[in-house]
Amino acid sequence: MTTTSEYKKPIPRPTGESQPFWDFCKKHELRFQRCSKCNTFRHYPRPLCGECGSFDFDWVQVAPKGTVHSWVTAHRAFHPGFAEELPLAIVIVDVDEAPGIRIMANYNDGTKADEVAVGAPVKIVFDDVTEEFTLPKIARA
Ligand SMILES: [Zn+2]
Repeated sequence: MTTTSEYKKPIPRPTGESQPFWDFCKKHELRFQRCSKCNTFRHYPRPLCGECGSFDFDWVQVAPKGTVHSWVTAHRAFHPGFAEELPLAIVIVDVDEAPGIRIMANYNDGTKADEVAVGAPVKIVFDDVTEEFTLPKIARA
């Protein structure tokens, strides 16, 4: 498998708060922080709830399913590693079982930008891009 130093695209730089999210991705589990007091999901990972201020939370596993909220079509590569994939659809997906959570990713199944539609059901899949990192990607449901 590709090592992180060989990988040609940007890679996450986890913080102490985001490391668990990436560790769960490596296990092909989609988990988000959910406040233990008021049950509000939040993402990106952070120490306290924006709704009630509680520091108590759980990492709740949700089904890797969502709905396309919006997308953009990149016609220019914002990083050289993506040049061969243009035009590239970058989608924002509402996660079905985590109200209020949207993730941004690109398709992993060859879906072309002109095939994307708002409201389309999608799967969130896990791409083991290096020995260390697994990235969430999108595939048609
Ligand atoms: Zn809360």
